[in-house]
Amino acid sequence: MDQTTERQTRLKLAVQKAGRLTDPSLELLARCGLKLSRGRDQLLGVGENMPLDVLFVRDDDIPDLVQEDVCDLGLVGLNVIEEKRLELAARGAKARFTALRALDFGHCRLALAGPAERSYAGLESLRGLRIATTYPYLLQRFLEQRSVQAEIVRLSGAVEIAPRLGRADLICDLVSTGSTLQANHLREIETVLESHAVLIRTPVTLPAEQQDWVERLLLRIEGVEQVKESKYIMLHAPRSALPEIKLLLPGSETPTIIPLEGSPDRVAVHAVCRENVFWETLESLKRVGASAMLVLPVEKMLA
Ligand code: ATP
Ligand code: ZN
Repeated sequence: MDQTTERQTRLKLAVQKAGRLTDPSLELLARCGLKLSRGRDQLLGVGENMPLDVLFVRDDDIPDLVQEDVCDLGLVGLNVIEEKRLELAARGAKARFTALRALDFGHCRLALAGPAERSYAGLESLRGLRIATTYPYLLQRFLEQRSVQAEIVRLSGAVEIAPRLGRADLICDLVSTGSTLQANHLREIETVLESHAVLIRTPVTLPAEQQDWVERLLLRIEGVEQVKESKYIMLHAPRSALPEIKLLLPGSETPTIIPLEGSPDRVAVHAVCRENVFWETLESLKRVGASAMLVLPVEKMLA
């Protein structure tokens, strides 16, 4: 295959260059088996064992890069894609990227917050106030849906200090632990959007080989997300205790029952639990007769 064809068959995935989504995005890809060559400060990481390269960019640019088909895929916050959708809609345009899958990282919420000392008397009390945000479209939709007339102060950053500077009465910003709010003497009062990272894709139909890799990547992501909390549990138990044991195993499908050589009424039980197995569970299993219990982490899973 010559170099041009080779390049055309490679998928390009946009990932945040330096920020909260960078490490978890790269970790997800690594867990999906991708080995990336990336020199320091390089814009492009080349997949060494998959036809997939990673372009490192600002997160705000990811929806455009994907819908303009510069990149085939992108990992970005729901907050960014929803703001983008509304911004496009306001211009009479339609977002052309598609969300393929919600991911279990980048959890945060877009929230309204006000000075900690000020009591909050419900949405009605927001009327006429100034709210500073870098998410004017999501905020506007939130206010409109609740018929609240407030003034939106659009900022490009440093939203949390706007009330102190007298530029706004409240803010609408991303929060995860709340520590930034606390440090700025602000208190969360309403949630505008619950957010997490999302895998998005181009509107363009991909060549079969690339599409195939998108599907493989999705299946691997599925597997990675499933095993996160999953445990493999092995134990011995009296055959008569099986009904109780099945009820105690958290989130497990049909366990494998194996007879034990020389003890006709005892069996070995092997099961995948889709939730963590806590000491309390093991103690309860012991009470119904289980012994020789072993809990192992699951590394990979493919349905
Ligand atoms: P960039 O330079 O790429 O534009 P940024 O300052 O916009 O960076 P970050 O603060 O790194 O971006 O946040 C990236 C994304 O991480 C957010 O859009 C959001 O989806 C998610 N996120 C998770 N928790 C938080 C949080 N506490 N504050 C802000 N973003 C968060
Ligand atoms: Zn950004």
